[in-house]
Amino acid sequence: MFNSLQSRLLLISAVVLAVAIATIAILASIYTGETFRGFVASDAQARTARIVLALGNHYQTHGIWDNRVQPLLDNMAITTGYYIFLYSPTGQPLYKSDEAGDFPQFPMNNMMPQPQGQAPNQGINPGQRPRNLNPQGNSPFAPRPRPNFEPFVPINTNNTIVGFVHTMPIPNAPAINQAALQESNNINLLIAATVAGAVAVGLSYILARTVTAPLASLTRAAKKLAKGDLSQRVHIAERGEIGELAEAFNMMAASLERNEQLRRNMVSDVAHELRTPLTNIRGYLEAMQDGLLEPKPELLASLYEETMLVNRLINDLQQLALAEAGQLHIEIAPVDIRHTIEQAVQALNADARKKAIRLEISLAQDLPLVKADSERVGQVLRNLISNAIKYTPPQGTIQVSSYATNHAVYIAVQDSGPGIPQEALPYIFERFYRVDSSRNRKTGGHGLGLAIAKQLVQLMGGTIAVESAEGRGSIFTFALPILQMETPEKV
Ligand code: ADP
Repeated sequence: MFNSLQSRLLLISAVVLAVAIATIAILASIYTGETFRGFVASDAQARTARIVLALGNHYQTHGIWDNRVQPLLDNMAITTGYYIFLYSPTGQPLYKSDEAGDFPQFPMNNMMPQPQGQAPNQGINPGQRPRNLNPQGNSPFAPRPRPNFEPFVPINTNNTIVGFVHTMPIPNAPAINQAALQESNNINLLIAATVAGAVAVGLSYILARTVTAPLASLTRAAKKLAKGDLSQRVHIAERGEIGELAEAFNMMAASLERNEQLRRNMVSDVAHELRTPLTNIRGYLEAMQDGLLEPKPELLASLYEETMLVNRLINDLQQLALAEAGQLHIEIAPVDIRHTIEQAVQALNADARKKAIRLEISLAQDLPLVKADSERVGQVLRNLISNAIKYTPPQGTIQVSSYATNHAVYIAVQDSGPGIPQEALPYIFERFYRVDSSRNRKTGGHGLGLAIAKQLVQLMGGTIAVESAEGRGSIFTFALPILQMETPEKV
């Protein structure tokens, strides 16, 4: 059930939310409970202080406790929800609020703390300061602990105890019910947590959908691609990881489509390239069979030339296939590029001379050794130089030059030939690509030479590029890593 990404995202956010909300609710419940208890305690203190203050004021006004205090007691009992008992400074019960029961016993022993075993001091008259007490209520034999009359609270006027008050909750009086209040608070918290949880889960669902929707469209496209529909592309406006994934998918689909197209082209190109010489050979052989042509030595030489062409095509194809599969044997070793260039130029000098083309070498001083296979480097060079000879008109010039940077040695073959049209440049290293197929047919090219050269250079860890403009010649440059360097600079 929770295999889909959407349900997992939903589950994760739901669990996180549940934990967060539960923690908040529990903490809130604990803290409100504490605050509430504190509030109730401080409320009790405040109530007693109010009663004591009112009674003190009353005493100060009248100077005596008499029945004029009764309405005040009744009134305060109603407003506070507490019975009020008034005692004289000596602890004698005086007045109590309406309907209050019997006077609770005043702790007479506590009335007066005795210094050194003296008998408790009795008989303090109203308005009189208890004996042996200074105005602060301390004995002159201080230090001595203050007497504790709790729960009887002294009423002080001008630093003199004029009476004591005691309170007792009136049963069934409307009072703050802590338990009920906390329970209702908890219910409110529960409702708030449930609503917050529901809203959050709803939002998580929507968010999870927005994350998984692009993935779903990617999955659909990938399935169609797997069934062979290589035109599949996804259109995802999203950025970030999913956007990158979509981009990578589109690139992969484009590359698959392109490779498939190349494969089809290759099959038809190979068929085409083989058909032409074979048709020629068959035509001549049939004509000889029919007695229309005599097997003269020139004719046989021409037929031989055609079979050599087929042979070369098959060899090139095999070499290209091996190079593309990375199975071509390459023996990397330190190579003196100067020597390899001189050898290649020497081998093709005769061809150049036949066309009255000047073949020059221009090499930088102190060229470092490169990491390469000298045989393959020679093959690439011969291919580039023979192309240059092939396409450069008589009286032209070809220059083979070489120079080095920190990372690589560059070898360039520049000719004064017709150049390559701008629109053809991106395809020049593709197999079977020829700028002018009819012209190349005459020169014996299959459009495989540069494809093979590129594969060989790449197998040696190098790069190859071309610069050309129509009518202004071409420069083919390849770079090889110098010894003990890993990657060459891009050409
Ligand atoms: P080919 O065997 O046909 O020469 P290549 O792969 O060597 O095949 O070259 C591919 C095509 O690039 C050629 O058919 C030609 O049109 C073009 N080309 C290659 N080298 C040159 C050059 N030096 N000058 C002009 N065009 C060139």
